[in-house]
Amino acid sequence: MKVGVPKETWAGETRVALIPASAAALKKSGVDVVVERSAGEAAGFTDAAFEQAGATVAGRADVFAAADIVLQVRAIPADLGALRPGQVVIGFADPLGAPDDVRVLASRGVTAFSMELMPRITRAQSMDALSSMATIAGYKGVLLAADRLPRMFPMMMTAAGTLAAAKVFVVGAGVAGLQAIATSRRLGAKVEAYDVRPAVKEQVQSLGARFVEMDLETQNAEDKGGYAKAQDESFYRRQREMMLRVVAATDVVITTALIPGKKAPTLVTQEMVEAMAPGSVVVDLAAERGGNCALTKPDEVVVHNGVAIIGPSNPPALVPYHASQMYSKNITTFLSHLLGKDGAKKPSLELDLSDEITRETLLAKDGDVVHSRVRELLGAAAR
Ligand code: NAD
Repeated sequence: MKVGVPKETWAGETRVALIPASAAALKKSGVDVVVERSAGEAAGFTDAAFEQAGATVAGRADVFAAADIVLQVRAIPADLGALRPGQVVIGFADPLGAPDDVRVLASRGVTAFSMELMPRITRAQSMDALSSMATIAGYKGVLLAADRLPRMFPMMMTAAGTLAAAKVFVVGAGVAGLQAIATSRRLGAKVEAYDVRPAVKEQVQSLGARFVEMDLETQNAEDKGGYAKAQDESFYRRQREMMLRVVAATDVVITTALIPGKKAPTLVTQEMVEAMAPGSVVVDLAAERGGNCALTKPDEVVVHNGVAIIGPSNPPALVPYHASQMYSKNITTFLSHLLGKDGAKKPSLELDLSDEITRETLLAKDGDVVHSRVRELLGAAAR
């Protein structure tokens, strides 16, 4: 069994799907690893480190030709033609956002798995790459804000007077939001947060932040997977009305609100930005999904009335060493799950579709899109 790790080709992508430590672990369990030359360079992992870990370093075409299983951060390579029928591909494929790409992947005859569709069950926690990447995004988002803000985060009592702590408002207190709260608190900011899911109130408070109560009906805000459900436009309008007051009084807004497979809700309006003091900062961590702020432009810093709106479309790529380390752990744990007890001794993957993790992540097999939600989306598009 041979695992191939191509260099990522997505613009601005600095992560690598597998790091040397994981390559060594795979090698120990009898799985050979072939890595494209300089695949880990942008993340700080040298070809020499991969070779020391027992991997082979090769050219791109050789990696695709040799690999039984291709591990990637972005599962749809620019050179799709390099994939061959029966080959296994594992990575982020944005199946709910770009289902047509999954159809293209399926047309290559590969067996494709999506890391995004990992079920949120205890057994799969160590394979949950979305949570890993959200942790990184929440941390980095705060640093981007702190770097831009013309103030310091902590309260300081100095001989030159008392400096007030920065006020941070985090919108969306899922994995990224909770990490943004924790990071802001570590830097000494005063933090407030809001989420449509009332269940997170205690988690917000346990991190030392204030949960902003909004008089909104949120009984039906969470699906059985723990994700937020989409609300209707009248809900979002009322939410924006309530948020205006909080945003106007804050130095930094960090938004992380997402609905799986949907465009991010617009929660921070131009009016709110105009109500903020000059020098304030909005970091929109939902930029890749259209953004939570009406003024966000992906990968640009928009300055409006003196307020900076920062919309990084790929925050984990700004922390590539640890993002790759976490992703590598997630993907190799998933790979071990697929290979089962026999591990490398298995000549090919015999997929156990009665297993929830395997079934829920499998996108395409034998030329067909097999995932029910992706098929529904494709069917809806065809109608
Ligand atoms: P996400 O990235 O899809 O969304 C981010 C946050 O935005 C969520 O907390 C969501 O409720 C919030 N949001 C959506 N619309 C909003 C709005 N209009 N206003 C304010 N907030 C809004 O979600 P996520 O962070 O990946 O995960 C959400 C939850 O899933 C976690 O907090 C956790 O409870 C659960 N989870 C469980 C596991 C597990 O059991 N293995 C793993 C990860 C996460």
